[in-house]
Amino acid sequence: MLTNNSIPFVNIHSHNADVTDDICIYNCTDISEVELYFNRCSYGLHPWNVQSYQQIDTFCHELELLLQKRNLLCVGECGLDITKGIDFELQLYAFSKQVELAQRFNVPIIIHCVRAYYEIISILKKQRCTKPVIFHKFSGNSQIYSMCLKYDAYISLGPELCKHKSKHSVDFDFRLDRLLFETDTNSDVNISDVYNCFSEIYNIEFKQLKQQVYTNFLRVFQTK
Ligand SMILES: [Zn+2]
Repeated sequence: MLTNNSIPFVNIHSHNADVTDDICIYNCTDISEVELYFNRCSYGLHPWNVQSYQQIDTFCHELELLLQKRNLLCVGECGLDITKGIDFELQLYAFSKQVELAQRFNVPIIIHCVRAYYEIISILKKQRCTKPVIFHKFSGNSQIYSMCLKYDAYISLGPELCKHKSKHSVDFDFRLDRLLFETDTNSDVNISDVYNCFSEIYNIEFKQLKQQVYTNFLRVFQTK
């Protein structure tokens, strides 16, 4: 059994390559970074960046080669976002293809979802997704949460906890064994702050929380 000090902090999603957290999955922004951050990064086509069917096909072909080489821990962030005015059919196509690849190569998926949870879930259903899906910066309600849990779903919360100091985004009963943390694009809040804020807001003992999140991480990545 690990002592509390030796239990690592886990940062499941960061855009900052310089963080020195115990365990951190860096979201690579281009293919050269994937080589550099070998085996501790995620890589995917973000819904804000989809442009054309051809671009998506080319991207997914490159992604497939990386997955064949086993250079990636997970696919993502990918997903759907209706707030940016980006062609939704293209977003659906890109997300479907990436779920299909994650499924085929047996890796988890980090999902960016803004006001499109039903559409995300419908694609997971169509693709018969059995891989872990991590909803980063989760903002759904309890009904959406229950629908997500029909899949191997986790929610990841981040610096918003510290900004709002309240049960701002998740104010319903949720499962601690389905929880992860992240710093995302934030650089002034570190991962231990996120743990601390969560522990205070939800009144969960820090040590128990740290152990639980680490256990969740091991389950998602099957590194036990
Ligand atoms: Zn992100």
